[in-house]
Amino acid sequence: MDKTIPVKLDRIYFGGDYNPDQWDEKTINEDMRLFQKAHINLVTLPVFSWAKLEPKEGVYDFGWLDSIMDKLAENGIGVNLATPTVAQPAWMSRKYPEVLDVDIQGRRRTHGMRVHFCYNSPKYLERARAIASEMAKRYAKHPALKLWHVANEYGTYCYCPICRGKFILWLKNRYGSMEKLNERWYTAFWGRTLYDWEEINLPDETNDDFRFNPTVQLDYLRFVTDSTAACFRNEYDAIRQYSDKPIQTNMSGFIKKLDQFVMASNMDIVGWDNYPWPTQEMSFVAMKHDIMRGLRGGQSFLLAEQSPNQQNWQPYNVLKRPGEVRRLSWQAIAHGADSCLYFQMRQSRAGQEKFHGAVISHSGRDDTRVFRETEFLGKELETLSPHVVGKRTKAQAAIVFDWNAWWALENSSGPNRDIDYLDGVHSYYKAFYGRHISVDFVSEDADISGYKLVVLPYTYMFRPGLKEKLDSFVRNGGTLLAGALSGLVDENDHVIGEFPGALRDVLGLRIEETDALRKDCLNGIHMGGREYPCRLVCDIVIPGSAKTLGCFTKEFYAGGPAVTVNEYGAGKAYYIGSVPDSALVSDIVGKIGLSPVIRADNGLEVTLRQDESEQTLFIINHTEAPLRAELPEGFFEPLAGQTVSGSTQIAANDVRVFVRRITA
Ligand SMILES: [Zn+2]
Repeated sequence: MDKTIPVKLDRIYFGGDYNPDQWDEKTINEDMRLFQKAHINLVTLPVFSWAKLEPKEGVYDFGWLDSIMDKLAENGIGVNLATPTVAQPAWMSRKYPEVLDVDIQGRRRTHGMRVHFCYNSPKYLERARAIASEMAKRYAKHPALKLWHVANEYGTYCYCPICRGKFILWLKNRYGSMEKLNERWYTAFWGRTLYDWEEINLPDETNDDFRFNPTVQLDYLRFVTDSTAACFRNEYDAIRQYSDKPIQTNMSGFIKKLDQFVMASNMDIVGWDNYPWPTQEMSFVAMKHDIMRGLRGGQSFLLAEQSPNQQNWQPYNVLKRPGEVRRLSWQAIAHGADSCLYFQMRQSRAGQEKFHGAVISHSGRDDTRVFRETEFLGKELETLSPHVVGKRTKAQAAIVFDWNAWWALENSSGPNRDIDYLDGVHSYYKAFYGRHISVDFVSEDADISGYKLVVLPYTYMFRPGLKEKLDSFVRNGGTLLAGALSGLVDENDHVIGEFPGALRDVLGLRIEETDALRKDCLNGIHMGGREYPCRLVCDIVIPGSAKTLGCFTKEFYAGGPAVTVNEYGAGKAYYIGSVPDSALVSDIVGKIGLSPVIRADNGLEVTLRQDESEQTLFIINHTEAPLRAELPEGFFEPLAGQTVSGSTQIAANDVRVFVRRITA
């Protein structure tokens, strides 16, 4: 049951992580002046201050936090108030060593790092709940309080005895009997039958039986997600007793470790930290935002962290180019974010992140390039905030994205070690991005009946219900586009049947064999007079009712079907039996007849957010050359104070935002 609350923010939140516990009063007062100058309206604190707030067990010192909260309120700045539970105090690790996590090699970690706790430790959970309750009681009615932020970037994997005990309980709850567990874990293979719950260990490096059984691996990943969600919920429930403000945690970038659909279902609003690598394609960054928007069914999310300049933890920490942070920030908002928050506001003098970019650098000046760019963006966000917050994206196409499928596919021994789930999903996403067609990401559990097109890139694992849902979607006139390795296994990672398993009927074909290609070897697909590269896997497809649209160009299966389409009920189901180039996907999408947001040159990123009364159109030029977009009638550009329509030039590296009233 969803126990979360609906959220509508009062503005675009602009600001980020602030660590006043590192600064004297004079510096803090100067920060207030600088924040106002840069239009900062929200800071996140005190993320790492548990040691300062609870110097002894059960003894709290909130004096300094009271005064900073009051000062922020006096200056009109809101607070995203963090429970500091990501870094427990040294006294706790010393007095209760069981709060420290155990790594995959079976070694108990020592105190000193952040995120070094066992999320199942009763003592950790007790102390985390206690400080969350104290903070909620104290600040629930504080005028600066806008949001709650629990811990920071969860993602530990613990292999301690407490976790083993909890894992056994979790399995008992899931399977009920040893007989069923043996069946689901397929222990008949290699004679690994278990007779008693006590024979279950964790899949760590001391236990190869479990570490190399893909179903055990999957169950452990599911268990860690459930445990981490419960650890978050422990604090959520404590806060909710006293406060009605939205509660979230910032998810660590875009991670495989935790099923973020499960994490998000426990939060009031999704928050995530975006740290793109300098070489990452902009379509890849856009895809991650769209996935985050999908976690709570299209609801706005928080861009909870990004860097206002270079990072410090990459091998080569390239400066963000002039205007780059503005583009990245608007890109997040264009895809559904209602905030732009940085790590960090003021650069720390020492410690691991002293070279990490900050709005206020070590110089403390307000005339640096980064500060001036922040101020400029802050003004833009303030102006456009009423045209953005709470608006949603409407999409005709959905891509199925699923952590279970991701885990199972990449855990699989064969057919190809270079299979990369995100890279495969991106091959499809990029086709929509390039055509300026909005797309939603949905889990296997989602209602897909409202879409025209559903895409299954690498949807290797079909959880219960998906097959029937897709069959009826296509029978009722929907279009399905499925990629290689989809539909092959059930939720236990057991092969469903003759490939492509769950998709045999709807695709109207069978797959006799699948070839694997080295990363540096391409095959090709010939379709409609063009040739496209394809990679990693090639299926030997035997069509039944499906018609062949494209054929492989190399190997002994050259001339055999690579792309097919099957008429099924009132709909159609396409199949691509390899990992395609996005140009091929784009040409198939072109046949399906989805509408772009607007017509625009390649290289422009175009999205639309809307509510019942207004549309907001975002156009971002990530290239070094001016490009053109075709604007329909009626759009107004608030930042320029002008009405714009027809063929419009978008300058190199620029962002343009337009709004239009919706008339009945
Ligand atoms: Zn543990």
